Amino acid sequence: MIRHLLSAADLDRETATLVLDTAGQMDAAMAGREVKKLPTLRGRTVVNLFYEDSTRTRISFEAAAKRLSADVITFNAKGSSVSKGESLKDTALTLEAMGADAVVIRHSASGAPHRLSRWVSGSVLNAGDGTHEHPTQALLDAYTMRHRLGRLDGLNVAVVGDVLHSRVARSNVLLLHTLGANVTLVGPPTLLPVGVEGWPAEVSYDFDAVLPKHDVVMMLRVQRERMNDSYFPSAREHARRYGMDARRMAMLPEHAIVMHPGPMNRGMEITPEVADSPRSTIVEQVSNGVSVRMAVLYLMLGGSRPEEV
Ligand code: ASP
Repeated sequence: MIRHLLSAADLDRETATLVLDTAGQMDAAMAGREVKKLPTLRGRTVVNLFYEDSTRTRISFEAAAKRLSADVITFNAKGSSVSKGESLKDTALTLEAMGADAVVIRHSASGAPHRLSRWVSGSVLNAGDGTHEHPTQALLDAYTMRHRLGRLDGLNVAVVGDVLHSRVARSNVLLLHTLGANVTLVGPPTLLPVGVEGWPAEVSYDFDAVLPKHDVVMMLRVQRERMNDSYFPSAREHARRYGMDARRMAMLPEHAIVMHPGPMNRGMEITPEVADSPRSTIVEQVSNGVSVRMAVLYLMLGGSRPEEV
C-alpha cells in the first residue's frame, strides 16, 4: 500500500480497487455489529489538521478513525498557534513530537500536504488542498457509483459546473480514468481550467446535449469564495445553463444517478427537487465516505484484517 495519499494519481488501478473492496468489507463488518467499532487501529494516533472550513470531511475522517479504535486528535487551525503565525513546518514538528501515525490535512494552499509529507514520518492524507485535489472524495464517489450501478469500467460520467475551482473534479477525473470510466467535463468556458485539453476527459459546453448519454451526473458547487463575479454572469444565468433541475433530470437515462459532493447551493447548481429525489446519491455519498476513509486508514496504517476482528 502507498505511504501517503496526496493525489488520486497516487493510486493505480489495483490499489484503488483494493481500497473500494476494503470499504465494502468495512461496511459488511460494521453491519452485523451492535457497537460500531473495530479494534484494528488500537494504539495508533490519527491527527486531523484542518486549516480550512469543513463539515463533512472532518467529521467523516474523525468517525472513520474512531470506528477503527484509533486515538484521534482534531486540530482546528483557528484558535491554535497557527493563528499566531506558526508555520506549517513548526506545526509538523509538533505533530512529529507527539508521534502521529497519520496526519489528515486540509489547507487552502494547493501543495500543502506534499510539503507536510516531507516533514513527518507518519502517513499524510490530503483532505483537500486549495483548488488542487481531494482524493478521498474521489474514492467515495467511485465507491458510490460502483455500489449503485455495479461497475466503473465503461461508465459515462459528466462532471458539471465550476470545474476551475474544484479539487473534487480534478481528483475524480484522475481516479475515474484509472478505473476505466469516461469523463465529460461540462461548464462555461470561464469555469474550465486552462490546459483542460490535456486532461483525460472530454469537454462540452452544452449540458442538455450531454444528458441522454450519461450514467452519472456529478454536480459541482459554485465556489464563490474562490472567485470574483467576472467568472459568471449571474447565479440565475448559471442555474439556467448549467443547473440540474427536474427538466434535465428527465432527460437522463432511467438508471442514471445525480451526485454532489456537498455543500450544495440549492437553487444554483441543483434544485431541491433533484437533490432530494431517489436518483440523488448525496446522502449515500456521506455515509460511504466513512467506509472509504476507514479503508484508506486501515490499509495505510496496516491494521489487522476486518475479518480477523
Ligand atoms: N466539500 C468539497 C471540498 O471540500 C466540495 C466543495 O467544497 O464544494 O472540496
